[in-house]
Amino acid sequence: MQNQQPYGYYALCQDIFLLCRRGLWQREIIGYSSCGRAIWALCRGEGGVLIQAAHHANEWITSLLLMNWCRTLRPSQPITLVPMVNPDGVALVTGEIAPESRQWQRAARLAGSEPFPSGWKANLDGVDLNLNYPAGWQKAAEIKRGLGVCGPNARDWPGPCPLSEPETRAMAALSERGFDRSLSLHSQGGEIYWDYAGCAPACARKLAEQMAAASGYAVASPPETASYAGYKDWFLLRFRRPAYTVEVGRGENPLPLTDLPQLEREVFPLLDVFYRGAE
Ligand SMILES: [Zn+2]
Repeated sequence: MQNQQPYGYYALCQDIFLLCRRGLWQREIIGYSSCGRAIWALCRGEGGVLIQAAHHANEWITSLLLMNWCRTLRPSQPITLVPMVNPDGVALVTGEIAPESRQWQRAARLAGSEPFPSGWKANLDGVDLNLNYPAGWQKAAEIKRGLGVCGPNARDWPGPCPLSEPETRAMAALSERGFDRSLSLHSQGGEIYWDYAGCAPACARKLAEQMAAASGYAVASPPETASYAGYKDWFLLRFRRPAYTVEVGRGENPLPLTDLPQLEREVFPLLDVFYRGAE
């Protein structure tokens, strides 16, 4: 494994090709990022459960975590993974975009006083992808405007309208195929979010508690400033089926690779529980 350096888009592509060579997983491009990178899905069967990682650029360790977990899986039901929803942003943060390129220069300007590129969360349009879904999007835009974010930025801009970005449209289209439940990996905080505006079905909290027991994480509600327009929020509102955001690990993003063994100890059992479903 490439465990000595940040896990970027190239490493992911390589891992996906290696994994699919054994024939257990099917790979599929569900869309292309705003800069033209493939958004990969790994599928075993149709429907079942959906897990995605790295909506946020400087949370690329969640992609590595998900890829490492999927190699341990003994499949008992269909599953689809989208290990890197935001490949452009991850490429920026992990050093795959040259500092002399126009993309880097533009992003550096947009980042303002944010640490760069380590503080970058958005895609390369400067849209925070996990604020771009049609579930309280206006409310999210108002809150962020109140905090001074009114346009393209390293983080916290919900975009010009819901689903303005190819990455979020690809996720929405994939989701319409129908899944029993969804889990989004983010970092950090050691928390599990499970509701949006009372949309979660009755069984959702129980599975959240079982995932908490497996990982040592806390079942929680996100702060008001992060309570709208996320993928989980939209999935709950649209399908009324369980959807979770899991904030893995503790520390400052991007979490260092030295955290990976501890993250695997916490998150692999959590993902096993999610995959099996509430017992
Ligand atoms: Zn995040």
